[in-house]
Amino acid sequence: MITTSSTDQTGRATPKPCPKCGAIAEQHKAGSNRFWVQCSKLGKNGNCSAIAPQGSNKKEAIDNWNKLK
Ligand SMILES: [Zn+2]
Repeated sequence: MITTSSTDQTGRATPKPCPKCGAIAEQHKAGSNRFWVQCSKLGKNGNCSAIAPQGSNKKEAIDNWNKLK
């Protein structure tokens, strides 16, 4: 399990690696107010199932992702 800080050097929230498989997390956006983070190995990309609930902004989406176990 890789552990990293949840903020980058500039203090912005950044998604942690996938809690299930350790792969890089991808940030996604739909429209102007739907944001979520999912594993880069989700589904057909590698059979991981990690996807966070949507948030209304990027920070919320990243918070949701970082709370996944
Ligand atoms: Zn994963």
